[in-house]
Amino acid sequence: MRLVLLGPQGVGKGTQAQRLCAATGAPHISTGDLVRAEITNGTPLGATIRAYNDRGALVPDDIIVAMAMPHLDDPKGWILDGFPRTIPQAEALDKALGAAGTAVDAAIVFEAPDDALIERLSGRRQSKATGKTYHVAFDPPPSDDPGPFIQRDDDQPDKIRQRLDLYHLETEPLKTYYGERGLLLTIAALDTIDAVAKKVVATLQTRFPTAPLAPPPATP
Ligand code: AMP
Repeated sequence: MRLVLLGPQGVGKGTQAQRLCAATGAPHISTGDLVRAEITNGTPLGATIRAYNDRGALVPDDIIVAMAMPHLDDPKGWILDGFPRTIPQAEALDKALGAAGTAVDAAIVFEAPDDALIERLSGRRQSKATGKTYHVAFDPPPSDDPGPFIQRDDDQPDKIRQRLDLYHLETEPLKTYYGERGLLLTIAALDTIDAVAKKVVATLQTRFPTAPLAPPPATP
């Protein structure tokens, strides 16, 4: 299955993308992870894109399209998380897929109010030791994770607001883009991870009755 996941920062796209990988067997491709890997590895590309990431701005379309494309020829399909994020990126994706004789099967948009997202994101911390993500109030780190627990530069409250504004301005028009093509599926995402994962699988099963979809594994 070739799925595009849309939704504002903090809505749980990444978590649901991992669940969808388990349900569909398709790999999870996060352009945010690709961006952070280039920066962490200190590559020349990382040096170019670091400033955009650090100030919560979008990396220019041509750069991010070139980064994403090599990951999109997997015959198992993919779960795209964080890409496309603008209309030109969506057009570039459709053009490249069309040339390869494939297409996006569906775009799933996860929705939640901005205030709830700001609360979620400003408490998000990632363990340097395990890579796991926690929330200082809702999901504090367990005692066996030694940390330290790092806050992403772009999870500072002013940057979060900026990223949400960018989402509304640049990315939300993709709802119309995919809606006009009959590809949009909308999921209310202010719910538990398991409840949202169940909604996603149920929605996909209705849309693709013959697709082999495993039920999402529950959170331990
Ligand atoms: P994310 O983890 O998805 O929030 O992405 C982190 C950062 O990577 C964003 O704030 C952007 O600077 C950059 N980025 C990721 N995906 C894209 C994209 N599709 N278009 C432009 N910039 C992106």
